[in-house]
Amino acid sequence: MAKNTNVTYKGIPASPGISIGPVFVYIKQEVIVPSHQVMDTDGEVKRLDNALSTARAQITDLFSKAETEVGGEEAAIFEAHALFLQDPTLITAVHELIEGQGLNAEAAWMGAIEDNAVKLEALEDEYFSARSADIRDVGHRVLRILLGVAESDLTALTVPSIILARNLTPSDTIRLDKSLVLGFITAEGGPTSHTAILAKALGLPAVVGLGKEILTLENETPLLVDGERGEIVAHPDEATRQEFEARHQKAAVRAEAESKVAHEPAITQDGHTFEIVANIGSPQEASFALEQGAEGIGLLRTEFLYIDRNTAPDEEEQLAAYDEIMDVMEGRPVVVRTLDVGGDKELPYLNLGHEANPFLGWRAIRMCLDQPDFFKIQLRALLRASPGHDLRIMFPMIATLDEVRRARTLFEEARDEVEAAGHPIADQIQVGIMVEVPSVVVLADLFAREVDFFSIGTNDLTQYTMAAERTNEKVAHLSDACHPAILRQIKRILEAAHVEGIWVGLCGELAGDPDAVPILIGLGLDEFSMAPSSIPHAKAIIRNWSLVQAQQLAALVIDLDSAAAVRECVRGYSPYKPT
Ligand code: PEP
Ligand code: MG
Repeated sequence: MAKNTNVTYKGIPASPGISIGPVFVYIKQEVIVPSHQVMDTDGEVKRLDNALSTARAQITDLFSKAETEVGGEEAAIFEAHALFLQDPTLITAVHELIEGQGLNAEAAWMGAIEDNAVKLEALEDEYFSARSADIRDVGHRVLRILLGVAESDLTALTVPSIILARNLTPSDTIRLDKSLVLGFITAEGGPTSHTAILAKALGLPAVVGLGKEILTLENETPLLVDGERGEIVAHPDEATRQEFEARHQKAAVRAEAESKVAHEPAITQDGHTFEIVANIGSPQEASFALEQGAEGIGLLRTEFLYIDRNTAPDEEEQLAAYDEIMDVMEGRPVVVRTLDVGGDKELPYLNLGHEANPFLGWRAIRMCLDQPDFFKIQLRALLRASPGHDLRIMFPMIATLDEVRRARTLFEEARDEVEAAGHPIADQIQVGIMVEVPSVVVLADLFAREVDFFSIGTNDLTQYTMAAERTNEKVAHLSDACHPAILRQIKRILEAAHVEGIWVGLCGELAGDPDAVPILIGLGLDEFSMAPSSIPHAKAIIRNWSLVQAQQLAALVIDLDSAAAVRECVRGYSPYKPT
């Protein structure tokens, strides 16, 4: 039977780029969990503990392999797996199931794993629901060891292919011969799933959340993947293939040329320089950011220190992590955001409680101000990491001036404590705030008098302006930060800040959005902070515009009436068309 040509599927863009090739369908072998009663409960506990040690040893190997092959974030996932296998609460719970109820090790173990995974999934937060896949992954590793079942792997992959799976876990992909992978597509997952992280680290396109239908594709089906548009075309006809191939070629040539000059500054045609820095979420990413041409760190998300564990990190542990990043950055500016969890991102040791509207709830600076002793641990660690570096600190989710003042008071108290303990502190530490709540935009002139800088968080600012939760795909159409309602707020913030002589950065996804970059130049943004892999292209865009042209563009788009109209206008106006 003749196949339909150009069958198109839409998913969520997870990593940009275009690839063309046959699909490799990766279906994991389902392992059935046996459940029965055991007499020798001591022997069963020992069997479980042996399996846990074997799993830990395997994960240590996978960690080293990940570190040398793909680095940073991928390796960090195995670190989280190792931590999970050492979790005393989990292990005690499983021991109790074996000893108390006489359950076999496999059933007790998988019961506890499922329990944990379901709790994480219920958190309605992309990051944490993605972590439930990690927990199941590590759970299945131990199960396979207990059952003596070989690990399913991707060794059958022998020709360059696009990997299709329901969902991909770090254990699935670590044994992959990366030179044979052209891209990833998955039925499940969101933009922060493991597939997205891995694809970005490897510089390969990925589309996730394509739905179950995609799993009906047969092995070797010819496929086109556009990671930027989140589009898949199966059985493309010759014309479509040629169109993708031409785009692919163009993008590859462009990326190579841009990476060659990624370490040069971003200077417009008429000689204005813009600062381009990186958003990172762990110390491992700092060197990658430098490789990509980052001139500093514009946003260090410190949540990595607090999640995937059972107790809060102490001052020394935090200090070591901050020192590591500062050392890599060698005096370049490093903007560290204080803890931004709470509500939607539950930490077991913080007792945050359940909330009906977690994004509007007790999170970030609100939670930190209510727990000053807990908050000051982070502030002291940061102050101690400051000597010899350009450390800047910013507070997330600020809504009122009172919050800024209270945060600053705690910062001063922490400074006194560090000094009293005899530790040196840098003379100059800038203190700023994230602008992500509309109340701050409205009163931007007042806030500008009380801080050293603003960093605009357009991800949250858009969510709160549009009243559209950022993790809900049903309202995703409302969440385009190119909307004039957001652009006008950025303009207002910049004007208020510049009157007071303070600088403004932007660290939401908008900073690395090719359509937004010229608008932001025109509006007068001082610092662009983005995912490291977006830096070379953003710098290239800036170099193709003059400030005057960008200002004309910004004046035009600010009066338009929708995000779509703004994007259309930029694309038509642009002296530089992103491919
Ligand atoms: C933002 O809200 O734009 C931001 C950068 O912070 P996060 O995405 O971590 O909430
Ligand atoms: Mg935010």
